[in-house]
Amino acid sequence: MPTNDITRLAELLRGLKEAQGPATVLTGAGISTESGIPDFRSPGTGLYTRIDPMEYISTRALETHPEKLWKFFAESYAAAGDYQPNAGHFAIARLEETGYVETVVTQNIDGLHERAGSRNVLEVHGHLRTAHCVACGLAVPFASATEQVLEGADVPTCAECGSSLRPDVVLFGDDMPQDFLTARDVVRANPLLLVVGSSLEVAPVNMLPPEAERLAIINRSPTPADRHAEVVVRADAGESLSALAGELGVE
Ligand code: NAD
Ligand code: ZN
Repeated sequence: MPTNDITRLAELLRGLKEAQGPATVLTGAGISTESGIPDFRSPGTGLYTRIDPMEYISTRALETHPEKLWKFFAESYAAAGDYQPNAGHFAIARLEETGYVETVVTQNIDGLHERAGSRNVLEVHGHLRTAHCVACGLAVPFASATEQVLEGADVPTCAECGSSLRPDVVLFGDDMPQDFLTARDVVRANPLLLVVGSSLEVAPVNMLPPEAERLAIINRSPTPADRHAEVVVRADAGESLSALAGELGVE
């Protein structure tokens, strides 16, 4: 990891905090790979090397073959409650606590930012805490929905009305939630957007970096927005963010 890039990023955050205010952080699946949750696009280990997302995590899947969607969610995320935040999530929580960061916008559904202590989190692709009934809206814990699938149900059903449940995540084909519109306003208002662990290939989240006044990126692999960033750290999120917190004296 080029230490000078982290030093530059720390200087940038320090200067902005004093002059203009805190930054926004935008995270993707890459911040959680060190917690043992595979991302979608890493070569070899990304989930997309195994599945076609439109076949499993889309509104079309929900309408035409919900059993495939639920098989995917039960197999991939039934243990979601056991995931633990890693050094990267904790460092971001410390940056928020100490005023360097105001808001965390996350594409992740794993809930690890909150579990690490971040308070101001916008979950623009939903979360794995609950599922709900497509007919009456009853909310149930996500784990109780996956439990039905693991016990043999093709599709988990509502205890009140018997209709199908769906996860509270944004599927391909869904409208974006209010959190996304709020995120766009926050990114426009704050002086810097720090992207961590995102390929920036998913729309419409990849439209957020162009809205930012200034941009910095921490990601293992190149992204389409790298050429617009003033600092690009091409390294792992955990060690990079720990080093950043260290440089700022807030680790
Ligand atoms: P992505 O899979 O498209 O890209 C992840 C990026 O992170 C890649 O560019 C990869 O090189 C990089 N990366 C992987 N491990 C890293 C590490 N330890 N440190 C630094 N960089 C690392 O992820 P995305 O951009 O978030 O988009 C995928 C979509 O999938 C999102 O919509 C998200 O909702 C969803 N998703 C979420 C989770 C989760 O909640 N943990 C997991 C998989 C997918
Ligand atoms: Zn119902």
